[in-house]
Amino acid sequence: MEKINLKNFNYKELENWVKERGWQKFRAKQIAKWLYNKKVSSYDQMTDLSKDIRNYLKENTEFDSLELVSFEKSNLDGSIKFLWRAKDGNTIESVFIPEREHNTICVSTQVGCAVGCKFCYTTKDGLIRNLETAEIIDQYLLVQRFVGNENRISNVVFMGMGEPLANYDNVKKAVQIMTDKNMLDLSNRKITISSSGILAQINRMYEDPEFPQVRLAVSLNAADQKTREYIMPISKTNTLEDLMKTLNSLPFKTGYRIMLEYVLIKGVNDSEKDAHNLARLIGKNKKRYKVNLIPFNPFEETDFQRPDDKSVEKFQKILWDYNISAFIRWSKGRDISAACGQLRKKELNNFIKIKT
Ligand code: SF4
Repeated sequence: MEKINLKNFNYKELENWVKERGWQKFRAKQIAKWLYNKKVSSYDQMTDLSKDIRNYLKENTEFDSLELVSFEKSNLDGSIKFLWRAKDGNTIESVFIPEREHNTICVSTQVGCAVGCKFCYTTKDGLIRNLETAEIIDQYLLVQRFVGNENRISNVVFMGMGEPLANYDNVKKAVQIMTDKNMLDLSNRKITISSSGILAQINRMYEDPEFPQVRLAVSLNAADQKTREYIMPISKTNTLEDLMKTLNSLPFKTGYRIMLEYVLIKGVNDSEKDAHNLARLIGKNKKRYKVNLIPFNPFEETDFQRPDDKSVEKFQKILWDYNISAFIRWSKGRDISAACGQLRKKELNNFIKIKT
């Protein structure tokens, strides 16, 4: 019989599971404390559980859902890219990003992706499957264990392989586990879900009282319908006009600005005209958005090219002139985390490959 993984349960489900076994309710709190607060690597370390309970857990549940295959560390800024193998042999990636005041992890939510953005490597083989909640949570736990508690990971971005909102239920549960006081207890403001702009799912998330309120990033990448449709086929059904209408009408709190991600591709969406169009698209809603400019990172099998640094800076300057908050995510170790879908690129310049 296939073993269950307790990291697929939110706190309420964990409590119910504990009760169904005839154990007292506080056992759920103890188990959650060992898994998420102490971040132990085996049931034997859960010393305040009775031996019987530990044996039951060992026999009936699996501990880690992922196994480390390899990791690559950036020479430039210390980012670490991890490759994991799931129980069924599929591999996924996550990235640890050390920053001056905090550490971030970028997690994957699917093996492959069905969305089909043309600038993205992940989507080349289509969608293979959704990740389970435990597989999302284990990316956080195993990376935290790897980098040590002195490098606490406080920020999570759902920007790795896959469209998070296409794996709605498992991602929702992962966010519940991340923000629950009895579990990972991360701040909602430090979690960002990045979507390609599936309108029905964005609306669903905002209307769902059980989906903890976290930050939203949207992969925009073009300021006109024709260009967006060319690089993001999903835009045929989720049009740019509808996307902006939806984003402009979402409940807005100043501290929760929506991040508009814009991968700059030479000759496709990086002209001065594109920058002015983007500013016009944002219009009077400047306070609602931040723009994140990401120079395209070429990979094999693509004709797209990276624009030169000067035109990237010019693009930013035009947005600034409209008083739009715009940042550039330069290509160094750090940018692998943001380039949703490029994480699968086999060889990254400036990385040392270390096989385990
Ligand atoms: S960019 Fe993100 S949503 Fe688009 S194909 Fe890649 S993984 Fe999927």
